[in-house]
Amino acid sequence: MAEEKVTVSIIKADVGSVVGHSRPHPAMLQTAKDILADKQKQGIIEDFYVTRVGDDINLYMTHYKGEGNKEVHSAAWECFQSATKIAKSMKLYAAGQDILTDAFSGNVKGAGPGSAEMSFVERESEPLLFFMADKTEPSAYTLPLSRIFLDPFTTTGLVIDAKAKKGFDIEIHDVMDHKKVTMSSPEETLSILTLLGDTSRYAIKRISSRAGIGPACVVSTDKLNLTAGKYIGKDDPVCICRCQSGLPSVGEYTQPFLNTTFLVAGWMRGSHIGALYPCSPDDSDPTYFDGPPRICCLGFQLNEGKLQGVEPIGSKGGNHVPMDFFGGRTFDLARENSIKASKFMRSQGPFVPSILSAEEMEYTSRTGVLKELTSRFEQID
Ligand SMILES: [Mg+2]
Repeated sequence: MAEEKVTVSIIKADVGSVVGHSRPHPAMLQTAKDILADKQKQGIIEDFYVTRVGDDINLYMTHYKGEGNKEVHSAAWECFQSATKIAKSMKLYAAGQDILTDAFSGNVKGAGPGSAEMSFVERESEPLLFFMADKTEPSAYTLPLSRIFLDPFTTTGLVIDAKAKKGFDIEIHDVMDHKKVTMSSPEETLSILTLLGDTSRYAIKRISSRAGIGPACVVSTDKLNLTAGKYIGKDDPVCICRCQSGLPSVGEYTQPFLNTTFLVAGWMRGSHIGALYPCSPDDSDPTYFDGPPRICCLGFQLNEGKLQGVEPIGSKGGNHVPMDFFGGRTFDLARENSIKASKFMRSQGPFVPSILSAEEMEYTSRTGVLKELTSRFEQID
C-alpha cells in the first residue's frame, strides 16, 4: 500500500438540536456511531470519529475510496437520515434542517450537508488537525489560513523550512458565481489578499504544497445560503489540515486563534457578525445570543489509514480520544477576547456592521416594508 492514497473526509450537517440551535441529542450522535461502526465492519471506511460543534454533527471518516465516493457519502447520508428521524421523534428544533432532498444521488454535494475531503499518500508521520466552526460561513477560515500560509510573521516555517519556503498553491472559490482560481504564494500574495479581503464572495477552498507534499488543507465551501438563490441556512464549515515537515506545524496552525480575534459572519439568524470563540466541543453550546461563533480544533495522528488519538489502550473505532487544542486554559484569553468583541458588536444593535449587508441577510423584512411604502415614497427635489 506504499503509494496508495488515503482519503480523509469530514461530512457534517445540522439535522436538529435541543433547545433552539444548541446541540444535537446524544442519541443522534450514537446512531451515527452505530452506523459508521457497521460501515467500518463492511470495509467501506477504515476508521471514523463522530463529534459535534454547537448544533452540527461532524463525521470524520478515513478510507481508500477517494473523494466524492458514493459508498462513503451514502454512509454519511444514512447517519443524517437516522439522526433526523430521532430529532423529529423528539420534536427537536430545526429537525432535518440540512436535508434538502428526498432523492439522494450518492453525493452530499447540493443535498444539504457540508463536506471537506483530501487524498494523499500517507507520510512516515502524518499529524492531522480538524477544525469545526458553528454559526458562521466558509470564509471564516480565510483570514486565519491567510495568516498561517501567507504571513511569515505568523508562521516562521515559511522562512526557515526549505520546503515550506517553496510556497503554496491556493484554490480560491467565488461562492457567488461558482467559479474558482488557483493562485500561488509567495509571488502572488498581495493579489491573493486583494480577492480574499471580500469574505462575502471569496473563500479559500484548498491549499497545496509546491514542494510535492500534496494537499495541506481543505475547507468545506458548500454555500447553503445560495441554494435556490435564497439564503436558507448557515454553512458552519470544517477544515482538515495536514501538518509539519514542509507544511505549517501544529502550533503554527493554532497560534493565530490566540493572537487574533477573528470577526466572522453568520451569527444569530445567520445575519450578524461576531468573534470566533475557540473552545472544546463540550464548550461549544452557543449560549450568548446563539453564539458567539464557535471554533474547535481536534487532532489525530494518521496510522495506516486509522485515526490515532490518546484513547485508552484497547479502544475501538468511534471511541477515539483526539487531542483537543482549544479546550485547555491556554485559550482562556482568546475566549475572553471573543466575548468582549462580540459584546461590542452587539452594542450596535440592528445596524451594520453588527448585522450583515442587505444581500447577505438570512432574514430581512425590508422587502415587505418597501412594498408597503411604494405609494408613500416621493421624489426629492
Ligand atoms: Mg450549526
